[in-house]
Amino acid sequence: MNPLLELTDVSKVYRGRGREVTALRSFSLQLAEGEFVAVRGPSGCGKSTLLMIAGGMMRPTTGAVRFGDQDLYQSSGSTRSRVRADEVGFVFQLFHLAPYLNVVENVLLPQMSGKVRVENARDKAMALIESIGLKDRLRHKPSQLSAGERQRVALARALFKNPKLILADEPTGSLDPENAAHIVQSLKEFQSNGGSVLFVTHGALAEEAPSRTIQLAER
Ligand code: ADP
Repeated sequence: MNPLLELTDVSKVYRGRGREVTALRSFSLQLAEGEFVAVRGPSGCGKSTLLMIAGGMMRPTTGAVRFGDQDLYQSSGSTRSRVRADEVGFVFQLFHLAPYLNVVENVLLPQMSGKVRVENARDKAMALIESIGLKDRLRHKPSQLSAGERQRVALARALFKNPKLILADEPTGSLDPENAAHIVQSLKEFQSNGGSVLFVTHGALAEEAPSRTIQLAER
């Protein structure tokens, strides 16, 4: 079976003000459906760059990225946007929740922004919020939640649209062990339902979580 996500010889060079930074050098990866892969490496080794490229958000300097049967960076911008909106869920360390929306509204945001159509959206959002243990925080705004709670909301929002792939950038980085375990557990559940996870971290990750760990070397 073809991999869901395939990066082939991907490199990224940032250029600006006469300086060049090679953030990724000839990186290749195949991620199958239902696989949970962790990429570990020290800060600055190119992990966030890798996720942005994998999620169709940033064109690599060289190399190719395939998602299903699409060559992401040979496709049109609208095809890439559709893959990003429908197939990929992003969970970043900094949450990216809308500060003026409450928990329910944040989880429903992909639907509210018109980018995604989910059947029975509200029921689904409520079920997800219950599954992350925040049923009694429905009307709270992000500023009224702890870091762990905010990260759970970000994960619920990513799961809301039933993506094929979740890209997670240090989602447990700033969390206490209990909240971190909760996030990893939710990702494992997503995986056991056939989803794929690409998780980057500079720190330790519960050893039992990923199916595979790839070490990114210091640049
Ligand atoms: P990590 O996520 O592993 O910390 P990043 O992918 O954020 O690594 O960054 C890899 C390297 O690329 C770092 O040296 C960083 O300073 C550099 N870098 C990241 N983004 C940019 C950018 N937009 N312009 C220039 N350099 C960048």
